[in-house]
Order: sequence, then C-alpha cells, then structure tokens
Amino acid sequence: MIDKIKLLPDSVANQIAAGEVIQRPASVVKELLENALDAGATHINIIIKDAGRTLIQITDNGHGMSATDARMCFEKHATSKITQADDLFNLNTLGFRGEALASIAAIAHVQLKTKTEEDELGTEILIEGNVLKSQENCTTSTGTSFAVKNLFYNVPARRNFLKSNNAELRHIIEEFQRVVLVNPDIAFSFYNNGNILYQLQAGNLKQRIAQVFGKKLDEKLVPINEKTDDVKISGFIGKPEFARKTRGEQYFFANHRFIKHPYFHHAVENAFKELIPDGSHPSYFIYLEVKPEDIDVNIHPTKIEVNFTNKQLIYAILAAAAKKALGQFSLTPSLDFEQEPSMIFNFDKDRPIKAPSIKINPEYNPFESEKPEPDPRQISNQENWDKLYDFERETSTTPSSAPTHTQKSSMDFISDEEEGPLQNNTFIQVGLTFVVSPVKSGMMLINQQLAHERILYEKYLELYDNRQIGSQQLLFPINISLGAEELSIIKEVQEDLSIFGFDISNFGNNGIVVKGAPMDVSDSKIPAIIDEIILNFQSGQNIEQNRKLAFARSMAKQLAIKTGQKLGQSEMNTLVDALFSCKIPSVSIDGEQIIKTFSLEEIREKFLS
Ligand code: ADP
Ligand code: MG
Repeated sequence: MIDKIKLLPDSVANQIAAGEVIQRPASVVKELLENALDAGATHINIIIKDAGRTLIQITDNGHGMSATDARMCFEKHATSKITQADDLFNLNTLGFRGEALASIAAIAHVQLKTKTEEDELGTEILIEGNVLKSQENCTTSTGTSFAVKNLFYNVPARRNFLKSNNAELRHIIEEFQRVVLVNPDIAFSFYNNGNILYQLQAGNLKQRIAQVFGKKLDEKLVPINEKTDDVKISGFIGKPEFARKTRGEQYFFANHRFIKHPYFHHAVENAFKELIPDGSHPSYFIYLEVKPEDIDVNIHPTKIEVNFTNKQLIYAILAAAAKKALGQFSLTPSLDFEQEPSMIFNFDKDRPIKAPSIKINPEYNPFESEKPEPDPRQISNQENWDKLYDFERETSTTPSSAPTHTQKSSMDFISDEEEGPLQNNTFIQVGLTFVVSPVKSGMMLINQQLAHERILYEKYLELYDNRQIGSQQLLFPINISLGAEELSIIKEVQEDLSIFGFDISNFGNNGIVVKGAPMDVSDSKIPAIIDEIILNFQSGQNIEQNRKLAFARSMAKQLAIKTGQKLGQSEMNTLVDALFSCKIPSVSIDGEQIIKTFSLEEIREKFLS
C-alpha cells in the first residue's frame, strides 16, 4: 500500500493556525498592540482603513528588532519571551506563544520596519503568505512599525465571514479599549480612515477612563481598593444611580490583561443587587493582581479566559471590597428618574414644551431598597388614559367615519375570539404586578408590564408604518456621552431613528446631542431609550435586522408601566381594553405569556387537597 501521510507545508500549517489566532481584523490589532507593549513602547499609533480590511498599521517606539530578529519573528514558535516551559509560570509579558506574527504573515501582506537603539539603520521586510519578498536596510526611527494589508486575501472563506465595516470597527475599538484601559501610562493615537478616533495622553487610570468614556466621570465612579496576601484589588466601580441597561462598561483585568470572568462578575453584581433596578447593570473597572504562579493564562489561545488558583477566596474578597466601596462613597445626590406616570400617555400634540426638570434628592440612601409609595392621585390620571384610548382609535387603520361601529370594541373582540373580562367589570391589582378579573368560566390574570409593552410596541409599529410619529424639538437639547462603539451603532441607525422622531446631531468623539424626540416621550426617558437601542444592537448581530421592530421594542420597553406601579381602576380598564385591541394580546414582545386564565375547575381543585 502506498504511504499516505505527509507533513503539511509550513505555509498551510500556518494558515490553519492563523484561523485560531486571527479571527478578524480586531485580532490583528490586539496581537500587534500586545507586541508593542511587550517591546516597552511609550507611544503607540494605530492607523486603520476600511475597518482593517485594507490596512492595519501599528507603530511603536519600543526597543525594535535587529535585522535577524526581524526575519525570525515571522517563524512559527519564534518568541523572545520564553525559553523554557518553566518560564510560563513567571510571565511578565503579554505574548509568549510566538505564533501571532507567523499567523498574520500567513494570511496577509505584511510590511515591517524596525530599528534598535544601537543600530544606525533599520530593516524593512515585505512578506506575503509566509513568503519573504524582500529585506532591505532603511532609515527609520527606533521602534517598530507593522503594516498589515489585504487581510485574508488568500482565505476567502474568512473574508466573506467578516461583518459590516461598522461591526468590524466596533470589534477593533473594543480590543483597543481593553488595551488602553490597562496601560494609562502609555500614549495612544488611533486613526480610522484618516479621522482621529482617539488621542490618549499618558496619565493616571481615572484620567484614562475619562478619556475613553467621557469626561463627567468624577460623579459616577468610586474607587475600590483592597489588598491581602492573595490578591490586590484596585480600580473603580460606578455608583448605583448610574447603572445602565447596557452592559458596556464592565471590565476585569488580571495582571495587566483584560479577562472575562463570569464568576467574579457575579461577585460584583451581587454587591449592587439591592441598589439598582432589575435589568440594569453597574459599570466597573476592576484590576486584580495575583502572583504570576496563581494565574494560568494558558487555557485559551486568545487568553481572555483565565484560571485562578484561589478563585473562591478572591470572590469573597472582591464582593466585600465592592460593598465597602459602595457603602463608603455612595451617599450622594442623584438624578431622579422615577417614573413620571402622567407622561406615558401624554399624546397631546399641543402640549407646551417643558424644560427638563432635575430633582436632587439629598436624602438618597442606596442601601434603602424600599421606594416611597407613589402618590396615587398622580397615577390615577383619568385624562391620560382617556387620551391613550382616543389615540388608539385615531390611529387605527379602520376607516374612522363611524369609529364606534367599525372599530371593534375590545369586549366584542373577546366575546367572539377568546374569553375576556366581563363587561362593566371592576379589576383588582395583585402584588402591584397583575390585573385580575373574573371571567365567565373562572378568573383571568394579566401581567401589567408585559401587557403595556405589547400595547406600546404595536402602537409604535403602526405609527411607524404610517409615518405618523411626530417629533418635537427639545427646548434644552440633551447631551448623552457614549463610547466609540456605542457611537458607531447610533450613527449606523441614525436615519431610521429620525423616522421615529429622534433628531440627533453633533457626533463628537464623546457622545451625541439629542435635539428632538418623539412627541409623547418625556425628556428624562430619552437617555434610557437610546441605551436600550444600543443594547439591542450591541452584539453587532442584529444591526442589519429589522430596525423598525428593534426600535419599537426599545420604546415599548422603556415607556411601559412597570411591575410595582400602582394602578387605579380606570387605568386598569384602559389597559385591559387596549390589550385586547392588540393583534397579539396574549404573548409578550419577549415571547412570554401575558394572560393566564384559571378555570373554575382548576380553582375548585385547589380546594380539594
Ligand atoms: P510572541 O509575542 O508570543 O512572542 P509574536 O509572533 O507576537 O510572538 O512575536 C514574535 C517575536 O517578535 C516577539 O517575541 C518579539 O521578540 C518580536 N516582536 C514582535 N513585535 C515586536 C515589536 N513591536 N517590537 C519589538 N519586537 C517585536
Ligand atoms: Mg505577540
């Protein structure tokens, strides 16, 4: 029989290995940044074109390479960082596998220019698909510059797998942020298609966080610090009142490396548990330092997941440190975003424009979980409920000449389709969560929040389709500070947002200015809606999906009455009415059940046991 086994040529082996290390342009950025840091650079410059498809260039002022090293560095397992396996347990560098450059050179055109302090002349290398094209002397300053062009030119499958430029750029920005947040003492500049995205001066950690996420951080962050024999914890956590719907700003670093650690994340979220509403997330920038031998970074090729020897112990210390930080620093005034019940259903187009009001509550105590009971007089705003009802009718697609006949009343709808509440019913509210009503054959429970989300969702979809969402210019435009990733999401969906009535302008580096908003949305809700929209698109996967649905969903989620809100009789009436006028009254916009009925039989059974 003929022998079949052959050794793969290096170029093929490297291409295969590249698949593991280099998944997208952002992976190249990460590897080159880490190399520049390992080389002791204090200034690093990044130039990106077409989200890294055509060019990723990273220039540093580190120690550079000799002419021989410059050629060697593209070999597989070529590294200057470890010489024996034992070194792995004493790592002070970010790289050590010696496969990044070999992988990159296998799937792109790479130009390297580098020079050491001692050398007069530098060296310039061109390499394509692992084949050395040229090596020459050149004049260049001390340090290294890698230009990676035409990424994946020989791996069409990978190239086709890339997402939109905006999505890929977001990945790059994410990697960039992870690196700069752990190196505040190093200056970075970042250009995208000729525009400067970041210009970061060397400074302390707080300054760096502010440079990246916007200036007004002083009031938002409190320091967290703890030191034991096993771990040193430092960094900042966000005050509870600034918790957001997006999970954006949650960072763990361990020994100068960004890590993901669901277990430690849990420790921090737990410390916030009583202090922030369900569904919002605290920001944190937490830096852990442990002895190199207590951490194993070798379990994953991209080194984001790591193992700690003393996991449980660190968890406990972290949880305590977070609680302590919150307890020490959190007693401050807060913006009052409490539900303003009357605004939800305010569809009055002639409504005079109000200045946004900010209430300062000096008594705010983050450890007091009980909220004061809302004033029921304020909530039982019959007028607004009536408006909602009128509005629903006005915007109904049925001809409106004789609305009382052509539009099915909810009760009609129920009687021939499915069973609904009895006419002239009184409703009761249970647990500030459910609206309960007797029906002919038993009892019906309606989840108030899910019901209202469904109502608003369908309403906004219909308004959108008819281009009926009115926009109202704000008297005081609202500034919202956003990170670069969030900004690029908003930019991408800006046009559709304007159909929803949002007038957004002034894309600076740090945020947006909202000048106009949908007619019936109160000013204080705008930042939360923008947040919710970003959250919906954040993974980058949904951005090409039906935006109309995503926006309607965001608005509904933000504007709906919540569990825990007291409802008056007439409000419950209107809610139930509007729900049964919906196209799909029984299923929530997240696919959960809105309505549950219990038959008399079921109720009787309860008494049998
Ligand atoms: P690793 O970083 O795991 O050692 P790489 O393939 O990323 O492997 O790099 C190979 C080697 O090339 C490094 O060990 C280092 O000696 C050298 N090198 C890479 N980038 C730079 C740089 N920017 N400045 C100086 N030396 C570099
Ligand atoms: Mg490396």
